[in-house]
Amino acid sequence: MIYLDHAAATPVSERVFRAMKPYFTDEFFNPSAAYLPAKKIAHDYEAAKAEIAHGIGAKASDLVITAGATEANNLAFTCLDADKKEAARANNKTESSVLYLTTEHDSIRRVAELHGGEAIRVLPNGLIDLNDLKKKITDETELISIALVNNELGTIQPLAEVATIIREIKIDRMKRGVNRQLLLHSDASQALNLLDINVARLGVDLLTINAAKIYGPKGVGALYVSHDAKLKPLAVGGGQENGLRSGTENVPGVVGFAKAVAESKEHLNGNRKKYAKWRKLFLENLKDYELINKKHCLDNFIVLCFDGIDAERLVFLLEEKEVYVATGAACAASKGVRSHVLTAIGLADSQIAGSLRLTLGETNSEEQILATAKIINEVVQEERARVNG
Ligand code: PLP
Repeated sequence: MIYLDHAAATPVSERVFRAMKPYFTDEFFNPSAAYLPAKKIAHDYEAAKAEIAHGIGAKASDLVITAGATEANNLAFTCLDADKKEAARANNKTESSVLYLTTEHDSIRRVAELHGGEAIRVLPNGLIDLNDLKKKITDETELISIALVNNELGTIQPLAEVATIIREIKIDRMKRGVNRQLLLHSDASQALNLLDINVARLGVDLLTINAAKIYGPKGVGALYVSHDAKLKPLAVGGGQENGLRSGTENVPGVVGFAKAVAESKEHLNGNRKKYAKWRKLFLENLKDYELINKKHCLDNFIVLCFDGIDAERLVFLLEEKEVYVATGAACAASKGVRSHVLTAIGLADSQIAGSLRLTLGETNSEEQILATAKIINEVVQEERARVNG
């Protein structure tokens, strides 16, 4: 098989799997227990957390481990001051306290909508429209959420520029005596394996990371929380993770996450070069297509449009040849929903219907990339002949 959907899921790497294994069997103790073997597990857990935190330029105490990115994204939104919001509503102040990029993953869009969030536009190249952002920030704005890398296009957003704008607004608010938090959250689920992330350099207050996209286990993620952000737990219980995420710690998951972060860091530059080379090679060998994500994106994302062709049929025809690709985000695809991301960058319905997302990764080889171009050329040619009668 040729698997080209690494933005949807990555296999657990051999080294990650090996690191996790003892914690399922021999080292199974509850880290909160009082005896010595359990204390060793608690120590290993903290060391793994420190390694994950180190990977983004943070400390272990800045991280809340979650069961994946969806939970981390939802947790980030608990920074919103519900009491102030109620008071604002009572005073008929309807300005939104949340801004989010219109191309965000559903785990941001849905929670932002629950908070009456307002969407910030993107430009046709997928980058944030900074003028729209500036226009929409008001004295009511408390939280701005912008993914570092978009999961459908691979677009890398200029977060440091956004952070600068926010800093200027905070200074202005201070001068005018406006006492309201203004936090920047970023969902970096798709970014950690190919970008050198540092929370201070990015200027974020909250950052979501995800083990499942970097050859770590599924259902493990984390939220970086700066000192300025005050969160509330989504669920209460035993008080683990500083009371923000109760429940017995997922020790194997976190050990695996730490190993995956370390491996990503180790191979960052080499992998970026490799994917850039493969992307170029693939496009040189592909015929009659339109490239949607031309610039400002991670090199392992290739979004193509075959005008007049139904991409869902292409996915099916490619599957018959054991080539696995996507039409968009896996969760949207399973619901048969048209991509809100491709709509946001201004693609026509016919272009969206003909769009394929290929995401390269560690299961691939140069031979596979060449073989895929050849197979897609053949399948598209057959489809065009069928459609044109
Ligand atoms: N955010 C982004 C950008 C994603 O790509 C994904 C997964 O597809 C998620 C959040 C959700 O992650 P999880 O399924 O681990 O909760």
